[in-house]
Amino acid sequence: MKPVRFAAIGECMLEVQANGFGPAIFSYGGDTFNTSVYLRRCTSSKDIEVSYATGLGTDQLSQSLQKEWRALGLKLNEVEYIEGRLPGMYLIETDTHGERTFHFWRENSAARAYFQAPETALEKHADTFDCLYFSGITLAILDTASRQRLFALLNTAKTNGKRVVFDNNFRPKLWPDRKLAQTVYLEAFDCSHTAMITLDDHQAVFECASLQDALAHAQNLSIPEIIIKQGSSPTLVRPEHSTDWRHVSTQVVEQVIDTTAAGDSFAAGYLSRRLSGYSAEVSADFGNALAARVIQHRGAIIPLEAIQDLISSPTI
Ligand code: ADP
Repeated sequence: MKPVRFAAIGECMLEVQANGFGPAIFSYGGDTFNTSVYLRRCTSSKDIEVSYATGLGTDQLSQSLQKEWRALGLKLNEVEYIEGRLPGMYLIETDTHGERTFHFWRENSAARAYFQAPETALEKHADTFDCLYFSGITLAILDTASRQRLFALLNTAKTNGKRVVFDNNFRPKLWPDRKLAQTVYLEAFDCSHTAMITLDDHQAVFECASLQDALAHAQNLSIPEIIIKQGSSPTLVRPEHSTDWRHVSTQVVEQVIDTTAAGDSFAAGYLSRRLSGYSAEVSADFGNALAARVIQHRGAIIPLEAIQDLISSPTI
């Protein structure tokens, strides 16, 4: 059997953790990238092949990133290398109470210039993928013309019966105004087969008066498969070909350490099972279990040992 071919489209940035000048920790991360790494960890490459589509530069750092990503098991055939651009970067400062502040240098990142090429690798190979994954951040970093090219390839994929998955991650600072975000999100929902919706992000995008209103708005979207995440409250799932909403309990977590990548790892856990033929409920259950582990550790990508038992069980 040929593996299921998955590609995520987005941006992975360099990460610096430092408080003032002096020693710092240098790493990398990004929402769609985190999902790709967890998906790779949750499945065998014989079953699911995971590609990451982004823009990188032609500099040393970009080369080091490629090396790292390959070592993590990601396929990089869809990466575009853009002369004169560098990877984006963010700095995390932590105050004495453990509160974190993020500072970004990403306006001119290579990822933003992905669609500069007359035809990107992803556009050339789009029909070879079974699942394409993108997020609200992917959309926010692209200019209008690039977004239209992305939507065009996603629409074709959806029409051809591929699973196009949209995660509604919303960063208000990346959008010039809320109305534009609303228009673009509706276009994203239109070209998606599966929507992963974090309820408070949905409330923020569509300026709903309450979470209840946001829930009604999300439940009325016309998308074949919808997953609504609401932190520790049950995850709601409406699988393809169904009109019923299923409530899938989250795990009890006594002490939440860091919620970074909760939604990203949920998406990976969900897709690892869904793309392998499991039901939407079983997939959501696995997504909840993986996210519960991730929030009990610091950082977006937690040590493999912390999830080894989970990912080696066929399902939970
Ligand atoms: P994001 O904003 O990153 O998308 P959410 O807060 O919606 O994250 O949470 C994503 C998933 O993480 C939830 O669906 C759930 O599985 C898990 N999760 C988040 N917070 C908790 C918690 N306090 N207890 C248990 N699971 C949680």
